Amino acid sequence: MISKKMVAFVEGSSTIRAMFEEGKLLAEKYGAENVYDFSLGNPNVPAPAKVKEAIIDVLNEEEPTFVHGYMNNSGYEDIREKIALSINKKYGTSFDHNNIIMTVGAAGGINVILKTLLNPGDEVVAFAPYFGEYRSYAANYDADLVVVSANTTDFQPNLVEFREKLTSKTKAVIINSPNNPTGVVYTEETLRALAAVLNEKQKEFGTDIYLIADEPYRELAYDGVVVPYVTPYYKNTIVGYSYSKSLSLPGERIGYLVIPNEAADFENIIAAANVATRILGFVNAPSLLQRAIGRCLNEEVDLAFYNKNRETLYKGLCDAGYECIKPEGAFYLFVKTPIEKDAEFCQLAKKYNLLLVPGSAFACPGYVRIAYCVAHETIVNALPKFKVLMDEIKASKK
Ligand code: PLP
Repeated sequence: MISKKMVAFVEGSSTIRAMFEEGKLLAEKYGAENVYDFSLGNPNVPAPAKVKEAIIDVLNEEEPTFVHGYMNNSGYEDIREKIALSINKKYGTSFDHNNIIMTVGAAGGINVILKTLLNPGDEVVAFAPYFGEYRSYAANYDADLVVVSANTTDFQPNLVEFREKLTSKTKAVIINSPNNPTGVVYTEETLRALAAVLNEKQKEFGTDIYLIADEPYRELAYDGVVVPYVTPYYKNTIVGYSYSKSLSLPGERIGYLVIPNEAADFENIIAAANVATRILGFVNAPSLLQRAIGRCLNEEVDLAFYNKNRETLYKGLCDAGYECIKPEGAFYLFVKTPIEKDAEFCQLAKKYNLLLVPGSAFACPGYVRIAYCVAHETIVNALPKFKVLMDEIKASKK
């Protein structure tokens, strides 16, 4: 008999993963070219060639017992130092290796920091629409996820409601920019206002509230939009970074946490995050990938590919009569459903082999997420289907 806690997790298990499985079945039935699977954020732009080269070079040039061995739970010190310096160079911060903990992707990093911080009954605040896994991550440590409802005007966080939802039990707030599922980038103005609310509430309650910036999409921003680095805005910020999307390495499970010196209880947090890394069973982030990443800090994936998809999809959907905001980052487009129920819309879309994720999976019903990290032809061929679907819905309303 599995644990009661796991029963709940299995029941609420990811809609997105379920759709991904369904997509595979449909592809077998109709042929992959006739299925338009927009369900999963699995990068289809290959990792830069330098990543493969770096892995090979590490294997050829570095001592095997070092490359494949255990190390400090935080990761290799020289790699953490290189990462710290590269962040400093980009954002004018002053981190060193003591501020970096290598992680098993963003998911591993968020779990490490939540395990480090949370007591049962603590509250973690997230802004809808949010990455659905946050709920399970908070529940892992018997904390409650408190959701601030979506601001559907521009999908910047709703800070009026945020202020009301903070309590003496709030231990952490998670933000994600560029955002999954909206593609929105939080502005500097947003971050300043968010920090002001947090500072006010910390003072009022006499508590520390940690802001966790979940940033797997930091590098995926278009049209020169600036993604502000969060640590300068708020002292108790912890950044969770990942190479899953920025270098198209989601299966390799590699990322890091940045824990600034000025974060309250810094030394204990670092010590506890090391232990959390160990007892969550990660022990350390994958060693070969750490070594390889150290050689790839200036590498990027081909953003032009995603950008072309973004432009084509956005224009095609608007022309077909859909309402959506143009994403500035990540590789998702969040579209208002022309009928009220998003799940029903997804069912209708499936008739045309269009696989979309309902906004309800992100606590934002009435929308669907389209992951456009797919072949360009998939978008070109899917757009007429979206148009027919819209026409069918319009006709049924008459
Ligand atoms: N956070 C967000 C917002 C994501 O979209 C994802 C993955 O899609 C993750 C975290 C997990 O990323 P990783 O593969 O680095 O664990």
